[in-house]
Amino acid sequence: MWIDSHCHLLHDKIKPLGETDILLENCRQNQVEALLIINCRIVEELPKLLEFAKGRQNIWLTIGTHPHEASHRDEIKVTAEDMQKIIAENPQIIGVGESGLDYFYDFSDRKDQEISFRKHIQVCIEKNIPLVVHARDADQDIIAIIKDETSNKGMKGIMHCFSSSPWMAEEALALGFHISFSGMITFKKSDDLRSICKSIPLNRLLVETDAPYLSPEPVRGKINEPAHVIYTGQKMADIHGVSEHELARITKENFLNLFERARLQDGGLSV
Ligand SMILES: [Zn+2]
Ligand SMILES: [Zn+2]
Repeated sequence: MWIDSHCHLLHDKIKPLGETDILLENCRQNQVEALLIINCRIVEELPKLLEFAKGRQNIWLTIGTHPHEASHRDEIKVTAEDMQKIIAENPQIIGVGESGLDYFYDFSDRKDQEISFRKHIQVCIEKNIPLVVHARDADQDIIAIIKDETSNKGMKGIMHCFSSSPWMAEEALALGFHISFSGMITFKKSDDLRSICKSIPLNRLLVETDAPYLSPEPVRGKINEPAHVIYTGQKMADIHGVSEHELARITKENFLNLFERARLQDGGLSV
């Protein structure tokens, strides 16, 4: 049984695949038993995610402002206290993110990205819940800010859709982070990424789709959906020389150890 540790299930780009119930049924058929849906805009998107998740088992959420949205007027106004209050009121919110820095696209002002990233880290420390980090061409600053905010102690969290350097992987592990791989590790040209994946201790690995993006081989080029997490999981099992079953078990256990608020219920995803 797999857990997709990062997807954007209600994203507009996923809509051509049909109703979300179809996507959840595809998950059931592929032994994907739980999903973490990642929030990108607190004011505009989170209420919709909460409404969707209401009463559904094994669907969890994060709360956060994606670095691309960090300059958005509404998002700037959300305080750490606001976030803490929302977390306290909603047990389905189990982590903070999507957070981090993206200097590749630079869709938001870098200063706004930093302020937002620091705010997210503070909420995580206050609530003792994990942070989901998006890193693109900003490895040095991300590590420096985490060290600064945690007085070098590190914290619980995930480097999601890992595509950075071996240096970043080492630093993140030392700071207590888990490393999550997406469909990118199935791509032909991703030898470097596969060798980083191999170097990550099994007890720090997670697997994700980042749906609707980055569909893995053999469905590359199609719109990604959470059920595709099995292909990335199969590749990771190959890389680590363990069975698929074993890798699914390990990544599930890692997920549940990391996200203490996640309550896994028998019976998988309900449609
Ligand atoms: Zn991301
Ligand atoms: Zn994402």
